[in-house]
Amino acid sequence: MKRIFPRHVTFDAHVHVMTPDRLEGGWRRLLRHLPGQRSSSAPPPTPGSLTQGIEEAGLKGFFNFFFPVFPGTSRQINEWNDAFCAGQPGAFPFLSLHPEDARRERDALMGEFLDKRQFIGVKIHSYIQRIRLDAEWLREVCAELEEKKRILFVHTGFSRQFRSGYREEEMADHLSALLEDFPELTVIGAHMFYPRLDIASRLLKRHPNLVLDIAALNPWVRRDGRLDEWIECCGRHAARILFGSDSAFIQETLAETIRAFEALPLGEGALNGIGGENALGLLESLGLAGRLRSESPDPAHAIRNSGETS
Ligand SMILES: [Zn+2]
Repeated sequence: MKRIFPRHVTFDAHVHVMTPDRLEGGWRRLLRHLPGQRSSSAPPPTPGSLTQGIEEAGLKGFFNFFFPVFPGTSRQINEWNDAFCAGQPGAFPFLSLHPEDARRERDALMGEFLDKRQFIGVKIHSYIQRIRLDAEWLREVCAELEEKKRILFVHTGFSRQFRSGYREEEMADHLSALLEDFPELTVIGAHMFYPRLDIASRLLKRHPNLVLDIAALNPWVRRDGRLDEWIECCGRHAARILFGSDSAFIQETLAETIRAFEALPLGEGALNGIGGENALGLLESLGLAGRLRSESPDPAHAIRNSGETS
C-alpha cells in the first residue's frame, strides 16, 4: 500500500462503493459521457480499489451511497451496502429508496436500517431515480429523519448533463420548502447546484440546516472558467461545505482529487473545515460519530501520538 499524506482532507462525504457489476456499468457510462485523459481501456473501479484509495489516504471515514435504479431492488441494495460498511472501518452507509417502493416496504426499510443497522440517513438522486423533491412520500421520510436526527442527502445540479427537465431553479424551490418545513433536519446537497452557484449561495444564506458538498466540481469549474467564483462561494460558506470525491463516478483517482483540492486558493481554516472537520463536527452533533476510524494507519503519526494515547 502506497500511503499518501493529505494535509487537510480527513473525510470523504461522497463515495459510491457498489457491487462490481454496478461499478462497471457506471464506469462505462462515465467514459462515454466524459471523454477525457483516461483511455477506455482503464479498468473499472472495484470495491477493493475504492477502499484501498481511502485507506492509502488515511481517511477517518466516508459516506457510502448505493441506490436502486429498478423497482423491487431496494432491500437487496441496502443489504449489500450494510454488509460492505459493516466490514469497513469508517464507512457510513446511507439508506436508499426507490420511488415505486410500496409504503409498507419503505416504512419497514426506514425502521430497520435506521434504527437497528445504524444507517445515518437517506440518499436521493432525483435524476437517476426520477424523484422530485416535492413528492409527498419524501415529506414523510423527512419527518422521520428529523425526528431520528438523521441526514437527508440529495443530489443537486447537472440537470443538463442528466438531460432532465427538472431544473436547478425548480429543485431549489422544492428543497427550500423541505428545509423550512423541517428546520431541525440536516440536509446535505451534493454538487452545489452546479452550474447554478448563485442558487447554492442563496440557499446557504437562507437555510442554516443546509450543507453542500463539492463532489466532482473542481474539474468542472476549471473547464468552465469559474474557479474564482466557486472559491469565493466556498470561502464565504466554508463552515457548511464538505469535501466529497464522488469516487466511482470520476475519472481522477482519490489521491489526485485530494491533491487538486488541497491546492485550491482557500485559507488553512477553510481547507481543514471542508477537508473533514465540518463532516466530523456534523457527525458528532448528531451523535453519529461512533463508526469513525480512530487509529491512524500512519506509523510515524502513531509514534508521535503514542504518549497521549497509551
Ligand atoms: Zn455521486
